[in-house]
Amino acid sequence: MLTYSTSAETVYNVSRQLNTSLDLDEVLGKVLRLTVEATGASRGSLFLLDETGRVTRQILARPDQSPEVSRRNINKVMQEGLAGWVYRHQYGALAADTTTDERWVRLPDDAEITGSALVVPLLYQERVNGLLALHHNEPHFFDESHLALAAGIAGQAAVALENARLFTQVKDERESLFALINAMPNPVLVVDADGLVTFTNELARQSLRVQAVNVALELLPAGQGLKAALETLAQQAENHVEVQWTDGRVYNVSANHVSQVGTVVVLDDITYLKELDAMKTQFVETVSHDLKNPLSVILGFAQLLELDPHLLPRSETSVQGIKQSAHHMNALISDLLDLARIEAGMGGEASPCDFARLIRDTLPGFDLQISEKSMQTKIEIPPEPVLVLGNKTRLTQIVNNFVGNAIKYTPAHGQISVTLNVTATEMRFFVTDNGPGISPAGQSQLFQKFYRVPEIQEKIGVTGTGLGLSIVKAIVEGYNGRVWVKSEVDAGSTFGCTLPLAPIPASE
Ligand code: ADP
Repeated sequence: MLTYSTSAETVYNVSRQLNTSLDLDEVLGKVLRLTVEATGASRGSLFLLDETGRVTRQILARPDQSPEVSRRNINKVMQEGLAGWVYRHQYGALAADTTTDERWVRLPDDAEITGSALVVPLLYQERVNGLLALHHNEPHFFDESHLALAAGIAGQAAVALENARLFTQVKDERESLFALINAMPNPVLVVDADGLVTFTNELARQSLRVQAVNVALELLPAGQGLKAALETLAQQAENHVEVQWTDGRVYNVSANHVSQVGTVVVLDDITYLKELDAMKTQFVETVSHDLKNPLSVILGFAQLLELDPHLLPRSETSVQGIKQSAHHMNALISDLLDLARIEAGMGGEASPCDFARLIRDTLPGFDLQISEKSMQTKIEIPPEPVLVLGNKTRLTQIVNNFVGNAIKYTPAHGQISVTLNVTATEMRFFVTDNGPGISPAGQSQLFQKFYRVPEIQEKIGVTGTGLGLSIVKAIVEGYNGRVWVKSEVDAGSTFGCTLPLAPIPASE
């Protein structure tokens, strides 16, 4: 018979011990040791069960038993013995005298005699997670007081086990998540609201040369550039931006805000793409240059032939053909060269330009074509300057292409309107004609390189390279604007673009 104070002290000690660790094996060991000590049992066993009642882990009081025998014995005990009875009934049981208790299974290889035994469940939310069994050689050693103490300990142990299980589960999940992020082929880092780098994967540690966590982003070797990139990303609609490292490498930086975690930054090394791009531009420039020289010679000779008074009328047509083709090739080469240069980047050459003035200066260049085709024009441009950041020659290309196409593809006596207006943040430039109009299928491909709308070619049949709109798109997007088209077959088309207004200097 255990005294009340012994039981109370034991339960107190057990609860103190149980709360010192979340390690599952340590918790199991402590529970068993404390209980065996407090009850004076000769042996004790602790089994952990899964939801089907299968024993998943065990601590045996008999370390000399081989695992095979133990496992076989456990199965037998769980099916026919006292442990199985407790599992099924979900409350503790006492076999005061094992020789007379029919729930007791005597195992053939059991060297030590068990005179009395008790088993209590580790019950958590109506589920038996484990069983605690105590044995003594003498019959009638255990009584109700031992059973009550063991039940009290088992109740606490069940909670501690659940905590340990949850902890292990969270730890395992966290470890596999880290392993996953570490195995990612891109550098990944997390920056918190205070600008501290709270997490880096292996590749991020290498490329950013991070040695510790909770380091301020700007203190890292490439941190300043990365910080500026994150600030840009926070302001713009697109979710990636390019950053050049001091060692020359170029990264595409994308960032996503995750609540309670911070900004998750993923880096993509695009140095090889940049190198390829530079090679492409170099290639196009060299080839274009080499092609332009013989082409000028062909054009020169064609012009000389044209002037020859002895030229047969038949040959005159051939000379015109040579001239036309040479001019077309020349235009194609110039467009290709332009596109390659624009795509290679226009950064650095932007300065405030008055777009309203630029249109006014450009339009007179079309007067002859307009009068030849007897077209009507309507021009709506604000009198005040409309300042945008860009290169004047490039911005002029936008006007030339939209207006040039409208004149080119609209039949004689057609109407063209050129409009420029501004909102608080951007300018909108658009050119409308009442020409052939473009089908939705054609519209979706208009800004692709070399695309020329087949129906328009059939109807109008003018020459072109199919590169003009791609050049406009590259220029406009290079200056953070957008291009668009609105068109209806047989009604006409509107080609437009937006460009952000240049920031007003602080002094104004
Ligand atoms: P290009 O005019 O040299 O063919 P662009 O890239 O400028 O090249 O235009 C691509 C195609 O878009 C043109 O070939 C034409 O089919 C169509 N297009 C452009 N502008 C107009 C317009 N105002 N009306 C009808 N079709 C147009």
